[in-house]
Amino acid sequence: MNRLMPIVSREQIPTEYLETPIGRLLEYHNLERDLDPCMNAELLIGMCMDNRKHLHIPDNFAFIIRTGGGNLRYSEFKVSYSIAVGGVRCIALIGHTQCGMVNLIARKDQFVQGLVTAAGWQQQSAEEHFFHYAPMFEIGNEVDFVMSEVKRLRLRYPKIVIAPLLYRVEDNRLYLIQENAPGAR
Ligand SMILES: [Zn+2]
Repeated sequence: MNRLMPIVSREQIPTEYLETPIGRLLEYHNLERDLDPCMNAELLIGMCMDNRKHLHIPDNFAFIIRTGGGNLRYSEFKVSYSIAVGGVRCIALIGHTQCGMVNLIARKDQFVQGLVTAAGWQQQSAEEHFFHYAPMFEIGNEVDFVMSEVKRLRLRYPKIVIAPLLYRVEDNRLYLIQENAPGAR
C-alpha cells in the first residue's frame, strides 16, 4: 500500500487538484473543511456500493455512482450524463480496502448458497448467474483497478480531470493513489 498518499494537510493536495472539486472533496472529508453551500453538482464520484463508507461532503456537491468495486465500465451513460447535462468537469474514482469485488471466486459457494436459501433460486441457475457475471465484476486488486479505470476514463473523456483515490475502511480516510510511484502501472 506504499502507493497511497495520505492527505492530512492542504499542502499535500497536488496542485493539479488543489482548487478543483477533487481538492475540495479531500478537504471536506479528510481535513474537516467547513461545508460550503452548493447549488449545483461540481463532481462525479464513482465508488463501491459497500456499506462501510460514508463521505463527508455538502449537499448537492456531487453525483455519486455506486457500483461493485466502483467499476464504471457498465455505467458509461450515467458518466456521460453527469458531464454533459449535469455539468461536472471532474471525476473522483474511489476504490476501497477490503473490497468484496476482489477474488470473487473465493465467495462463489457463499454466493450460490445464499441465492438458493435466501432468494429461492435453483442451484444451477445460481451457479450460472455467478459464472456469467463474476468475470465482469471481478476487480483483481483495488489500487490497480482504480488506476486502470482512471486511465480508461481519461481516454474516453479527455477534457475531464479524473483522480484515483482509495478509501481505507480501517480509518475512514481518503488517500490519493500515487501515479508515478515505483511499481505503478
Ligand atoms: Zn467494494
